[in-house]
Amino acid sequence: MNRMVYGERAYMVNLELSEVEVRDRRLKSIISYQGSARDLCERSQKRQLHLTERSFGQCSDCSQGCSQTLTYVIRGAAVVDHAPIGCSAPGATNLTVDVSTKARGLPPQKVQVLSTNIQEKDTVYGGLEKLRATILEAKRRFDPTAIFVLSSCAAGIVGDDIESVTGELQEELGIPVVPVFCEGFKSRIWSSGFDAAFHGILTRIVKPPVKKQMDLVNVFNFEGSDTFGPLLGKLGLRVNYVVPLADVEVLEKLSEAACTAHICETLAMYPAAALEQKYGVPEVKAPPPFGIDWTDNWLREVARLTGKDALVEDLIRSEHERVREALDQVREELRGKRIYIFAGDSYAHSIANMLLDLGLDLRGITTLHHDQTTDGGTDSLDSLGNLVASKGEIGNYTVCNKQPYQVFKLLKAARPDILIVRHMNMTIVGAKLGIPTMNDGDVNISAGYDGLVRLGKRLVDAIKTKRLFENVARHCESPYTTWWLEQEDPFYFEKKDAGGSENFNEGNME
Ligand code: SF4
Repeated sequence: MNRMVYGERAYMVNLELSEVEVRDRRLKSIISYQGSARDLCERSQKRQLHLTERSFGQCSDCSQGCSQTLTYVIRGAAVVDHAPIGCSAPGATNLTVDVSTKARGLPPQKVQVLSTNIQEKDTVYGGLEKLRATILEAKRRFDPTAIFVLSSCAAGIVGDDIESVTGELQEELGIPVVPVFCEGFKSRIWSSGFDAAFHGILTRIVKPPVKKQMDLVNVFNFEGSDTFGPLLGKLGLRVNYVVPLADVEVLEKLSEAACTAHICETLAMYPAAALEQKYGVPEVKAPPPFGIDWTDNWLREVARLTGKDALVEDLIRSEHERVREALDQVREELRGKRIYIFAGDSYAHSIANMLLDLGLDLRGITTLHHDQTTDGGTDSLDSLGNLVASKGEIGNYTVCNKQPYQVFKLLKAARPDILIVRHMNMTIVGAKLGIPTMNDGDVNISAGYDGLVRLGKRLVDAIKTKRLFENVARHCESPYTTWWLEQEDPFYFEKKDAGGSENFNEGNME
């Protein structure tokens, strides 16, 4: 395939604005597609795809959940959800901070979250007094180093002026009080919530560099294990893991690093572009280190940006040699196994790159959304284009924002030996179908050469659970009607894009 060249400038980050534009408009993101990887690349290059409507939806996540995922776990900070109490559920139920701090070798960490608990009368009279009181209570109760204030649908619809209140209290309290505009209704792409949280950090916390640290590499990740440290340590580099588990002082100095890398473009291409444009911290414009060829190229790019070129080729050679035997062994054990991926946009591409390196039979990929362009504006950040360039066409490629009724049909058609997912709640669909399902939660553990071997071994173990999953499936009743099970098209309820029918199918889900 010819590598796609965007031929356009990077999205110009504007940190003077209180909000970053949502992905729906900024990256022309979509949540529904059925076809092949190559076709999706080519149509994305021409921005031919549109956010379509559907006449039936089973569930969704929201931007506030993604903002919570990042801000709830910043060490020493407090969070105020300016929202009805239920909006705090996504962040609270996803918390694995105890496990994560242990995995990273860090001391235990408290989660410090309050909700303004917006009620009906606040939507009539406004909730700003309540917000002010809750921020002051957060300061009194936790004495935090920063307070993040997350907006919500209710606060956004009422039009509470969160920016003014946070600005006033920042002056009064002498710590950053950071507004995060992550109202769920504003974007159909929940990853917009990552960008909203990063925008708050970039505008209210990050400071201009005092002293450049040429051996320091920012690595945007979730609450993952310390796997980048040992890898980059071989080049004499240090890792600055951000933003979960980092404290506010570390975030202030993001501008001092030699370069910025990330585990996934979907998570962090926005802050990486912002740090490059505002502070001249270059982004590592190579696919993240998942799979042999991507790890090689990522190390070369990091080495180029940190002046370690003289070391990198020897390191790559010796690492290949070191893992060769273990890799051959897992490849042998996984030979011919059919696998399906259901994960977020860019990380799904990283998983695919690894699985194809391990020699698995990739039966299909479903991603939760798809960004048709990147903030960096270059083809080197186009993770799907990189996957196709590296591994060739993937014939069965779909985009679906986690609708179980669709996933159910996609999996039944693909009949994999194993399913790999990135969200714990999607393991249930696989289990109900009797498919051994592995949740790739801490993605850091699959990074680098050792990570590929580790992933292979985990898959070997997971496949051995087949009988357990078959047993589970025998005791599960399908919630879907015969009518739906007999429908051929998993995307039956979508308004068809690019010349398809303008009418919705209403169906019969009784
Ligand atoms: S912010 Fe809106 S979409 Fe998100 S949980 Fe709250 S009400 Fe639901």
